[in-house]
Amino acid sequence: MTTSLKGKIALVTGGSRGIGAAIAKRLAKDGADVAISYVSSKDKADAIVKELQSMGVQSIAIHADQADSTQVSALVKKVVDHFGKLDILVNNAGVFVTGGLEDPSVDGKEIDRQYAINVSAVAAAVRAAAPALKSGGRIITIGSVLGDRTPFAGIADYSATKAAVAGYTRGWARDLGARGITVNAVQPGPIDTDMNPDNTEFAEAAKQGIALGRYGKPEEIAAAVAFLASPDASYITGTTLTVDGGMNA
Ligand code: NDP
Repeated sequence: MTTSLKGKIALVTGGSRGIGAAIAKRLAKDGADVAISYVSSKDKADAIVKELQSMGVQSIAIHADQADSTQVSALVKKVVDHFGKLDILVNNAGVFVTGGLEDPSVDGKEIDRQYAINVSAVAAAVRAAAPALKSGGRIITIGSVLGDRTPFAGIADYSATKAAVAGYTRGWARDLGARGITVNAVQPGPIDTDMNPDNTEFAEAAKQGIALGRYGKPEEIAAAVAFLASPDASYITGTTLTVDGGMNA
């Protein structure tokens, strides 16, 4: 365990699996106490909490559906009530709903739900967390390379959600800069998780367009988040850090 985040309290939304679980573990490794949220994977969330506790930090898991902004605000409040403060908010929970503009099978409700989870919930979490954050506080949102570029058809809705959080990131950096709080987004390329497993025809095709020729690991996104959360990133705000193996190069 390193100690750069010792004494810090972090909340990672969607910390039960994939990138969020890797971020939770990395922040704990760096010394932070970590709360995670989940919507359906209680057993997985509980297992992550046990793993973090075994690393010598405090940890709790809280159920909160990011599709409901009331639950998101309550989540932030529960973390602040439990730990007495909040230093690092990582907006990670997200979903990937595809479908082209003229595809009749696209379910508009799922598109709206995606927007609620990927965008409105992020805004609700930041609004709830901002009053609790102090100078040195960190807000880090997991966007996507698809927020910058749209390399194939059928992902306009998802891409728009990730472009929206990049825009929010710049605006919130302005809103919170005077208080010494930094706001940034990490934009992953294809990362091997349940959302985008590295064992499909899609993955093989995607790798052709990645400079490094491979999918990333959740830990490689967690490393970027840990850097932005650390004191070393004190002068970085309002920007996006793309971690994509050169997909958007
Ligand atoms: P996974 O599907 O592997 O994990 C998603 C996580 O988000 C789970 O912890 C899940 O909780 C949680 N979650 C999903 N919906 C909700 C909800 N309604 N309320 C609360 N929690 C929810 O995804 P990844 O780890 O791959 O993705 C994490 C983030 O990274 C997302 O924002 C995604 O858009 C982004 N991203 C991923 C890329 C990739 O290639 N994997 C590429 C670029 C960006 P539960 O376990 O309870 O369901």
